[in-house]
Amino acid sequence: MPPPPKKPKKADLPQKLCVTCGRPFTWRKKWERVWDEVRYCSDRCRQARPESDTPRR
Ligand SMILES: [Zn+2]
Repeated sequence: MPPPPKKPKKADLPQKLCVTCGRPFTWRKKWERVWDEVRYCSDRCRQARPESDTPRR
């Protein structure tokens, strides 16, 4: 008997790639209001952002 197809997890949370370390990270409750602005997986990566990544104005 073939295994049943995988279903998406109940908690199908969005993911992003950290611009500093390049690793994917998952939505967190603390980011629910700023998720569109979140670009780093952690405070460490935020502080270690490359200088070339200058904020555009
Ligand atoms: Zn990171």
